[in-house]
Amino acid sequence: MRATCVKIHLENLKNNIHQIQSILNKNTKICVPVKANAYGHGIIEIAKSVVSSGVDYLAVATVNEGIQLRESGIKCPILILSIPFIEEIPELVKQNLIPLVYEKEFIDTLDTAASKFHKKLEVHLKIDTGMGRIGCKPEDALDMAKLIDLKKNLELTGVCTHLAVSDSFSREDIEYTNKQISLFVTVTEDMKKQGINPGIRHCSASGGTLFYPDAHFDMVRPGLIVYGYFPTPDSKEKMNKKYPFFDLKPVMELKSKITGIKQITKGTSISYGRTWTAENDTWIATIPIGYGDGLSRSLSGKLSVTIKEKKYPVVGRICMDQCMIELGEDGNPEKHLISLFDEVTIFGPGKNMNTAVTLADALGTIPYEITTLIMPRVTRIYL
Ligand SMILES: *Cc1c(COP(=O)(O)O)cnc(C)c1O
Repeated sequence: MRATCVKIHLENLKNNIHQIQSILNKNTKICVPVKANAYGHGIIEIAKSVVSSGVDYLAVATVNEGIQLRESGIKCPILILSIPFIEEIPELVKQNLIPLVYEKEFIDTLDTAASKFHKKLEVHLKIDTGMGRIGCKPEDALDMAKLIDLKKNLELTGVCTHLAVSDSFSREDIEYTNKQISLFVTVTEDMKKQGINPGIRHCSASGGTLFYPDAHFDMVRPGLIVYGYFPTPDSKEKMNKKYPFFDLKPVMELKSKITGIKQITKGTSISYGRTWTAENDTWIATIPIGYGDGLSRSLSGKLSVTIKEKKYPVVGRICMDQCMIELGEDGNPEKHLISLFDEVTIFGPGKNMNTAVTLADALGTIPYEITTLIMPRVTRIYL
């Protein structure tokens, strides 16, 4: 096996699920999004692990992801969070995946497809209360629910929305979120008054799950916190005011091993473009990881990695398959500190390690993108 790999700490995943369960009412269900290969962690193994921890629902973005789960033997309800293309509908019906619906034509098409399979297909109605992505207008929701109710081969088993700024603590954003939540309440209450059962009501991703207990309703859909990252730097403190013991542990660890160590003299340049030149005689290690593995080239000059709990800078440009680290005098074999094939951690849950958040901050992005970018050629090892 290659030296570069991702270790998936399933015990941390279980910890995070238990932490989330501990802040929910007994009856609140959990739906874990495992879209985009479970944010890069590996869809099948993550799905199996969270289901065994008592999670009720899974969510994916595409029908193909749903099929992958079904083919691996997963039986629980699976939500499709993005709108499928017409050609994907027969497979969706066959595999009992639950689409989000909000348009009349799409609802008609689904009903026809379900009738061909002699099935009653579960659907959840999506309402756009302010995200501006998918969903019907709140004022049209009741009519949509009535339309679904009339379809012989469809069954409304849930109503949902998505919050746009639930992880922000500015006054304006809190107001916006509360407005979204109250719109959602109004709409679902109207349905009940008209004798329509909205089924499972859900609207909270990680932010709503942590900070808006009023928005838990019947189910929450936390993703990021399941994988061990708080949505914002100050959110751990906020949580600990209310729940002193609440803690999340990163699930992913990106590792490699030293494949070469050499001494270089002052003035020697390292890597393409000669962007880095040694200011003193020093020791350089090469590791077999690069942007072909998902370690962004834009991290060149901005990244340190961990060897035996100590940080060392990546120097020069990150290449497609390799990059270089400056070890300084620690690389001198006479010191017996670092040797060939020693483990190098790019990010992970251990002592003095970066997390995906550190890398995200350096790149001006979010941790979701860091873990999702890890390429398929990097073997995932499940611990
Ligand atoms: C991805 C997604 C989530 C999970 O979001 P996190 O921020 O990772 O918690 C929840 N709901 C929907 C509709 C999503 O697309």
